[in-house]
Amino acid sequence: MTEAALRSEIVETAREMERLGINQGTSGNVSARFSDGFLITPSGIPSAQLDPASIAFLPMNVDASSPLFSQLRPSSEWRIHRDILQARPEIGAVVHTHSSAATALAIHSHSIPAHHYMVAAAGGNSIRCAPYATFGSKELSDYAMQALKDRTACLLAHHGVIALGRDLARALWLAHEVEVLAKQYLLACQLGTPPVLSDEQMDEVVEKFRNYGPRRPQDN
Ligand code: 13P
Ligand code: ZN
Repeated sequence: MTEAALRSEIVETAREMERLGINQGTSGNVSARFSDGFLITPSGIPSAQLDPASIAFLPMNVDASSPLFSQLRPSSEWRIHRDILQARPEIGAVVHTHSSAATALAIHSHSIPAHHYMVAAAGGNSIRCAPYATFGSKELSDYAMQALKDRTACLLAHHGVIALGRDLARALWLAHEVEVLAKQYLLACQLGTPPVLSDEQMDEVVEKFRNYGPRRPQDN
């Protein structure tokens, strides 16, 4: 994909997050791997005001003292996006939201357990919640990286959700799926502590899910 097409797709992804009701205002951010770095939404701009030129390119080896930060004003969460894309070559895109139901669980530092088989879409038998740290901090990125071990999504305590995918479509799909799972879990809690699937049952679904999710035309 060309840089121009990827910039447009990032803008569209940010707008779609709002249309899906999983983000609002200036919350959340989106990135995609490109060349020797990544493209990322700018900080503090509502999705309706984004345009392809406002998307920042950062090299993977960028450090916090780089003049690129004052020039391009990339998302304050650039470090989470960079750390994930640097450590996990199979990942091409990262989506961060403050979607309401998932954040409600994260306010209680509550992971999403295996109440539904779709939890396996994030790679395991739970969607972990990372401990709280200030937004934009290295500490938050370190906690997120731990919570994302062998997973493609996690919650961030008192904050929101991170979802990963090999491309923007899959990362967005998973971010939406996490919110749906959180809603289902909260509803099920109204009838008591929800029963959960066994590790064996979840292992079986994780295996079936290796290639599940939105397909690109070239996958068919
Ligand atoms: P940015 O506008 O800097 O991307 O921050 C939004 C956010 O969600 C911080 O966690
Ligand atoms: Zn956030």
